[in-house]
Amino acid sequence: MTHEHEPGAEAEGGPENDRSLPDAADSPVHATAEESDSPPLPQDKEKGAVVRILVVQMGHCFRTSGATGTPGEQAFVKAVADACVEELDRPGPPRREHWRLRVIKADEPLEQYAGDAFVAFHCDGSVNPDARGASVGYRDAAGQSLAQAWKHAYERHGWSGGFRSDNYTENLKKYYGTRKAAEAGNPRAFIAECGFLTNQGDKALLTGPGGADRVTRALFEALGI
Ligand SMILES: [Zn+2]
Repeated sequence: MTHEHEPGAEAEGGPENDRSLPDAADSPVHATAEESDSPPLPQDKEKGAVVRILVVQMGHCFRTSGATGTPGEQAFVKAVADACVEELDRPGPPRREHWRLRVIKADEPLEQYAGDAFVAFHCDGSVNPDARGASVGYRDAAGQSLAQAWKHAYERHGWSGGFRSDNYTENLKKYYGTRKAAEAGNPRAFIAECGFLTNQGDKALLTGPGGADRVTRALFEALGI
């Protein structure tokens, strides 16, 4: 869940469409129609000279009070981060070797958000066990483009829980993850809600075999690495 509140900060809001509401399940689960492909990365001036940083934030980790997330969320996003570490070590497209990974927790200093791409991983939860679906949130077109590429790839890798409407709201601008990424100059940032841990179907996809790898491989594909 993205309904975060940072102690001592200005009023923080999560995305406006509160998925904890019982009627959230009635909102349309839309297909990924109008989405664009991920933009090409800038060309390296000298091959091998540029190191790029992928910042992966584990939502809510490792808070024990305040916005701690939906039960099981911290464990899942930790598993995704671990899968990202493993994936980067695997052979991939030539560009992969120019990328480095920085895994960050929920509460980190601003400079930790700096890099070339930022993703905050989360899961949703609802009192309505029928509420399900993954979704993305972003602040701008660059974030949207990367987020849409992730959604396409997530589906290709077997996510069958559907997607909910994107979060592209005023409140999302206050969401700490993507806001700090923007403040740190990270050019592409989005939040990935990987599905609902309170829905049996989504939970089976998320926590079953390959669930975290599906999330991870979709991210690497979205980045073209
Ligand atoms: Zn969350």
